[in-house]
Amino acid sequence: MRVGLYPGTFDPITYGHVDIIRRSAGLVDKLVIGVAINRDKGPLFDLDERVAMIEAECKILSEETGTIIKVHPFENLLIDCARDVGAQIILRGLRAVADFEYEYQMVGMNRALDSTVETVFLMAEARHQAIASKLVKEIARLGGDVTKFVPPAVNDALITRLR
Ligand code: ADP
Repeated sequence: MRVGLYPGTFDPITYGHVDIIRRSAGLVDKLVIGVAINRDKGPLFDLDERVAMIEAECKILSEETGTIIKVHPFENLLIDCARDVGAQIILRGLRAVADFEYEYQMVGMNRALDSTVETVFLMAEARHQAIASKLVKEIARLGGDVTKFVPPAVNDALITRLR
């Protein structure tokens, strides 16, 4: 059974993430969404809230793709999380060149820690290139409309939290 791990902070989940989840589900038998606690990043939504929002979207995506999708919070090393969930593949989304350097470095470090886990990158779809959780939060905080960037339930959660 091929198991993939898609890790991130998902603060909050956006249509960019949803697209990577949908496409990743087509590549593996089981997909685990690893939700990093990331206290250092000072997330807007706490872990339980982020997990609940991801689970709601994954329920739909799992039915749509026929792939098992699980949500797994983690606080340890990514490579240890991959081992914990039995993943042979780590999946990441790539947007502009800005993502590349950091991701390249991460792959190098993770490979040095465990060379049996391969990282696979999916290029962001053109219409999702610009979507970043950080910008979505900034726009929502200033009263802008983010319905093009996040699912309806996430939009509602942003409005409730920020206004
Ligand atoms: P992290 O803290 O790991 O960067 P994020 O939640 O910001 O967590 O992102 C998780 C993953 O999703 C990363 O691989 C990131 O590049 C990817 N990603 C984020 N936004 C998009 C998008 N709009 N399109 C494609 N991939 C994306």
